[in-house]
Formats: sequence, C-alpha cells, structure tokens
Amino acid sequence: MARPGVFRFTADELNLNPKDHRLQYHWAETKSGTVQVIDGFKCGGCNWECDSLYAEANSRDEAKHLIEAGEIGMCGECFAEYLAEKE
Ligand SMILES: [Zn+2]
Repeated sequence: MARPGVFRFTADELNLNPKDHRLQYHWAETKSGTVQVIDGFKCGGCNWECDSLYAEANSRDEAKHLIEAGEIGMCGECFAEYLAEKE
C-alpha cells in the first residue's frame, strides 16, 4: 500500500468558499473602493492564523478536495503534532 504524502496549500491554491470560516480577511483600499483581501487561514485545531494548511492524503488532488470540503487541513504546528503522535 502506498504511503500517504504530506501536502501544503496556500489560500490562492485552494478554491474555498468565500464564506469558509477558516479564511482570514483584511480590508484594503484600492482605486475602485474597499475590497476584502485573503490573508490566510485560521487553523481548525488551535485557532491560530496561518499562511498555509497542511494535510496528509494519497495524492495532492485528494488533499485539495478534502481541504475544500472542510474535512482536513491544519497549521504546521498542529500537523507536526499529529505526525508525532501518529507513530
Ligand atoms: Zn493549528
């Protein structure tokens, strides 16, 4: 059986619902008005703000799909803890 891989995603690599509770925004002034800009994520494990989400899956596509569905995805700190406790 293939060993699952570890994958890392930034906000612009994922097609998350704009209302996804994990997305973190800030407001930015532009010539056309005030717009919401995605800063990163809020980790579901520790609630900390992070730039990337990590996930373990059999392929990058599977990891992307599961993160977009809200099934998996953790900050680096939580993911390291998960790996350390798994063995
Ligand atoms: Zn975390």
